[in-house]
Amino acid sequence: MPDALPVIIVGASMGGLRTAEALRRAGYTGPITVIGEELHAPYNRPPLSKDVLSTGVSHEAVAFPARAATADVTWMLGARAISTDLEAHTVTTDDGLEHPWRALVIATGLRARRLDLPLITGRHCVRTLDDAMALRDELDPGARVVVVGAGFIGCEVAATARKLGCEVTIVAPGAEPLIRPLGATLGAELRRRHEEHGVSFHLGRTVAAMLGEFQFEGLQLDDGTIVPGDVLVEAIGSECNTDWLDATDLDLTDGVLADAALRAVSTDGTVSRDVFVVGDIARFPNLLFDGVARRVEHWNIPTDTGKRAGAVLGAWLAADGSLDEVVAKGFTPMPAFWSNQFEMSLQAYGLPGLADGDIRILEGELSGAVAVGYYRAERLVGVVGLGLKAELLPYRQEIAAHAAS
Ligand SMILES: Cc1cc2nc3c(=O)[nH]c(=O)nc-3n(C[C@H](O)[C@H](O)[C@H](O)COP(=O)(O)OP(=O)(O)OC[C@H]3O[C@@H](n4cnc5c(N)ncnc54)[C@H](O)[C@@H]3O)c2cc1C
Repeated sequence: MPDALPVIIVGASMGGLRTAEALRRAGYTGPITVIGEELHAPYNRPPLSKDVLSTGVSHEAVAFPARAATADVTWMLGARAISTDLEAHTVTTDDGLEHPWRALVIATGLRARRLDLPLITGRHCVRTLDDAMALRDELDPGARVVVVGAGFIGCEVAATARKLGCEVTIVAPGAEPLIRPLGATLGAELRRRHEEHGVSFHLGRTVAAMLGEFQFEGLQLDDGTIVPGDVLVEAIGSECNTDWLDATDLDLTDGVLADAALRAVSTDGTVSRDVFVVGDIARFPNLLFDGVARRVEHWNIPTDTGKRAGAVLGAWLAADGSLDEVVAKGFTPMPAFWSNQFEMSLQAYGLPGLADGDIRILEGELSGAVAVGYYRAERLVGVVGLGLKAELLPYRQEIAAHAAS
């Protein structure tokens, strides 16, 4: 295969960008092309549901700074990959063009899951900058905002909309907000704090129907309750952008399966040499916890997986005998997550969702600053702090210590 063929990265967001940077750090000087469906150069998504949504959403406010190392990368923005042929080593984009590659990096992340309802105005989700800009235009003081979903994005958008003077109602099937990642106790405390700020909840409820023929006017819930509204925000999770990989034999069960070196794995267990997976879409094993491959939708994961994939791919491309050594280094990234809702700052390490029901208050008080520990078989697998930061570091170390044991 000629050396002049590029490494093609599909997905021009954080995972794709960090992989390109890591490839350069690994000494690869050949061509890199990034194909991205969005028109924007890579930007940071977390502010879209938080401060930026309230203070002015623009690309400048969230763009990742360009680094010299990747100045010569070719960005094909506004181009969607529709398929790839892993035998022929090509990607086809939605303009019908075929792009040959020497190695392929899958960095296509997630898209927002939507309610199965008619497409009328007033319906929103928050995954992209364009989504956030469209929503911001409707968050006028007094607007009645109905948020479906009480996960992190739903709770953050609710808090931001409330700060902007909107009337906010959250509808969710769980008994408490954030119950799946954080458990009922912390979830109830977060609800209490949201209620203090005037957010209303309909918990344990699902959507039965939407009101309004052309413009959103409200929801009817499964118990018959009518929740009137002007703006609907759907924050019901996400789906993996794997459709362009459907014709391949890659294992696409919940994202794209990868080994601990982020090389794509086929349904028959074959590990690819030249196809890598990074970011939210990567389902990879993390020996920090166990050998089970999981996707982790936390901000540090696109960076950690991008660095790892770039290092391994760089060693493979260099063909200098360093590949085995780089792969053998192991990969145990610590999932890290934060969230801001009203005056609350939440910081998490590890995977609280892995707990077997054993959740303990480690220090502080629920109604104030608190650290909550999540245990599986007596081992700390996650910690969440409300209003605490440095205090969490010993617990982070305790979680990390398991990787070495
Ligand atoms: C509103 C919001 C708030 C968040 N807040 C936090 C937070 O507070 N803390 C935290 O830890 N994490 C947070 N996250 C998660 C974090 O932003 C993600 O983990 C991160 O963006 C994932 O990066 P990625 O590069 O893997 O994928 P993505 O950012 O999803 O990027 C994938 C890119 O690929 C493109 N693409 C998809 N399919 C194709 C195709 N076929 N062809 C070409 N391009 C394609 C997409 O358009 C997209 O640009 C938040 C996410 C959102 C949306």
